[in-house]
Amino acid sequence: MVHFVGAGPGAPDLITLRGAELLRTADCVIYAGSLVNPALLGLTKEGCAVYNSAEMTLEQVLAVMKEQEAARHRTVRLHTGDPCLYGAVREQMDALDEAGIPYESTPGVSSFCGAAAALDAEYTLPGVSQSVIITRLAGRTPVPERESLASLAAHGATMVIFLSAGMLPGVQRALLEGAYTQETPAALVYKASWPEEKVVRCTVGTLADCGRENGISRTALVLVGDFLGRQYDRSRLYDPTFTTGYRQGTEG
Ligand code: SAH
Repeated sequence: MVHFVGAGPGAPDLITLRGAELLRTADCVIYAGSLVNPALLGLTKEGCAVYNSAEMTLEQVLAVMKEQEAARHRTVRLHTGDPCLYGAVREQMDALDEAGIPYESTPGVSSFCGAAAALDAEYTLPGVSQSVIITRLAGRTPVPERESLASLAAHGATMVIFLSAGMLPGVQRALLEGAYTQETPAALVYKASWPEEKVVRCTVGTLADCGRENGISRTALVLVGDFLGRQYDRSRLYDPTFTTGYRQGTEG
């Protein structure tokens, strides 16, 4: 059996209890070494085979999984954050289906949640935005034209931009082509939850400059939107006048 496990954003104690238990009992761990905190490997039992997938191709990863499965071993495929975002897990799952190897997924804390925690921010503020757009700028992996950053920026919603910290001038340009202005609040969160975490608050107009000044060009998220500003409406859910399924309000 292969377990796809989310490692969380970096701090080793941000893996789930289930993920940690799978790591402790694994016979083999294949971890995404470019971003997964190697401290998590300290959980593995003696004799556990450990592979760094940053140095491997999909074919090599699959070969290890097949070899381990033939020995009836438990393999943990450890991905950064949550595997469902930019994790390249689908191609592994389809290949495992073809090989008749069973697998299961265990979610993790995505870095976009780690970044919100670093900022003490709420992405979905009433009266500001009720949507979070998770996207990236096209790099070596193309982005479909209908999902261009500029077109998504037209919504003015909360945006979380992955894999683009090395292209901040382009990010800034695309955001300004959308609904954001030079003054729209933005932030860069570098290595959320790692000891070297850096949080830089700026505006869309100063994004590229702030990235350069703070030496941030990788392993960072770009956060954009008025959720980083001061104005918002308070929630209906906790409004004393508002009746919910659990509480009688003072009105109606
Ligand atoms: N599956 C991962 C994302 C993998 S793509 C997740 O759920 O977080 C890799 C990109 O994620 C990086 O380029 C960076 O944009 C972002 N990232 C991953 N870990 C991060 C962290 N601790 N802090 C900030 N950004 C991070």
